[in-house]
Amino acid sequence: MKCVKCGGELAGMGTTEGVEVDFCSSCHGILFDHGEVAEYFELAVDVPDLVMDLDLARKTDLKCPKCSGAWVEIPYVPQENLLIDLCTGCGAIWLDKGEFPKLEAIAAKLDDPKAKLLRAAKTVERKGYQVVGFKKV
Ligand SMILES: [Zn+2]
Ligand SMILES: [Zn+2]
Repeated sequence: MKCVKCGGELAGMGTTEGVEVDFCSSCHGILFDHGEVAEYFELAVDVPDLVMDLDLARKTDLKCPKCSGAWVEIPYVPQENLLIDLCTGCGAIWLDKGEFPKLEAIAAKLDDPKAKLLRAAKTVERKGYQVVGFKKV
């Protein structure tokens, strides 16, 4: 699979958290499938509150290596100067080199009780139960 950003070759990489991500050996970016960011950082959704910023999404020329969908660039947490690249087709997320630790720091701050509750609901759902009152993410 080709890198979203530089056209280099992506290689699958298992993380200590048990999430398999795709890593570019040329530009050192990381491609997460939909849901993998949440799994890695133990968040309820990939990028919390991202929906609020979708209005600010900027179209890019990037093409998704997974689904050929179009990618948008979304300013996320402007004070951290973090831009998230998101596939509008399959929901994959791209993190440039250096963006990963930033997101990690943000994720650590975001871990509130509500997120934990949502996460518990998602875990139950994954096991095949429907949780009433929670919207599917
Ligand atoms: Zn690359
Ligand atoms: Zn895609």
